[in-house]
Amino acid sequence: MSPEALLKNPSAIPESDFNREEFDTYVMNTYARFPIAIARGEGCRLWDTQGREYLDFVAGIATCTLGHAHPTLVETVTKQIQKLHHVSNLFYIPEQGELAKWIVEHSCADRVFFCNSGAEANEAAIKLVRKYAHTVLDFLEQPVILTAQASFHGRTLATITATGQPKYQKDFEPLVPGFEYVPYNDLEAIENAITDLDEGNRRVAAIMLEPLQGEGGVRPGEIDYFLQLRKICDENNILLVFDEVQVGVGRTGKLWGYENLGVEPDIFTSAKGLAGGIPIGAMMCKKFCDVFEPGNHASTFGGNPFACAAALTVLQTIEKENLLQNVQARGEQLRANLCTIVHKFPNLFTEVRGWGLISGMELNADIPLTSMDIVNAAIEEGLLLAPAGPKVLRFVPPLIVSEAEVDRAIEMLEKAIAKVIART
Ligand SMILES: *Cc1c(COP(=O)(O)O)cnc(C)c1O
Repeated sequence: MSPEALLKNPSAIPESDFNREEFDTYVMNTYARFPIAIARGEGCRLWDTQGREYLDFVAGIATCTLGHAHPTLVETVTKQIQKLHHVSNLFYIPEQGELAKWIVEHSCADRVFFCNSGAEANEAAIKLVRKYAHTVLDFLEQPVILTAQASFHGRTLATITATGQPKYQKDFEPLVPGFEYVPYNDLEAIENAITDLDEGNRRVAAIMLEPLQGEGGVRPGEIDYFLQLRKICDENNILLVFDEVQVGVGRTGKLWGYENLGVEPDIFTSAKGLAGGIPIGAMMCKKFCDVFEPGNHASTFGGNPFACAAALTVLQTIEKENLLQNVQARGEQLRANLCTIVHKFPNLFTEVRGWGLISGMELNADIPLTSMDIVNAAIEEGLLLAPAGPKVLRFVPPLIVSEAEVDRAIEMLEKAIAKVIART
């Protein structure tokens, strides 16, 4: 079948013969996978290789902003791959310039650096902080970056060090020096750390936080904490860095996560949802801390025409289709319904929290059930969910999710919970 014919009729793509044993023989054993193989998708729906349908409230882990096979995104990437997909940053890339301009015009940032993933965007931010500390901030020799406990910043060596969760660091020591951890939403801890770490040529140069902790259990930042934090950073010449890899690009009902907190970061990063599932990462910063010069940092694939065209389309579609409004309405609908479930099963759940279309539902710590038990039961019902730690269910559907789809997800979740209870 020609590509054009396939585009017009995606259901004509044959289900592949999937062999799980063979997969496990050849692919490195780095993921605990659910026992289904996804073959295709459309909107918020996915089909596995057996032809079974699922409602997707994972969205590639908060990544498929426009869902699957969105016609506008399909058209953009199809046209772009026919025209030009990669040339390297040895040359000017018009699509990269256009995307950077859009981001700068729609955020607090003045400049953008492009790469391919969240971890890489955070690595770029860490390098920028260090160069700023060495060259501008009192020629600091030992700059410290404070990050939060239960944070998540990626899987490279520097970003697992930045990640305040020992389980990601275990067996990969020695870690990268220059990171210290504080509890999230705790101002006193920040103040103490800044004082304690100030000696000789060593001091806190930056504080790097998620506006809402995603992997760490869907924990929103507190407005008061962030307002005070901004003040402390200004008074002490400390850079405020936000990891917006999961919460940026409309996920929270605002374009950027920091808009929920009433503060602007000096540096922030984006990746997951930025190109709707095409790999891209970005690090944004204000002019005053833009100390990179040619040769300081680079990425072969970073900002290539294909990824940038896709990202520009995602951002323009969010604007054109008024998706932020949908995110707010569907998020409220979802959380109201999740709260009803919490009230129905008060022994099972303790809390529902989140912003826009990133919501978490916490299981009671005193019962032996884990988030994985519920997620597995939900998948049996045809609803895809992702855990955020052992006790939190995470709901991150595509930003295009409809009212009826949210209702449907709630129905399936209730059935799944009832099944789990019946089994225990
Ligand atoms: C997913 C995530 C990352 C890592 O992104 P990768 O693209 O997997 O490298 C970093 N920070 C946050 C907040 C994330 O959610």
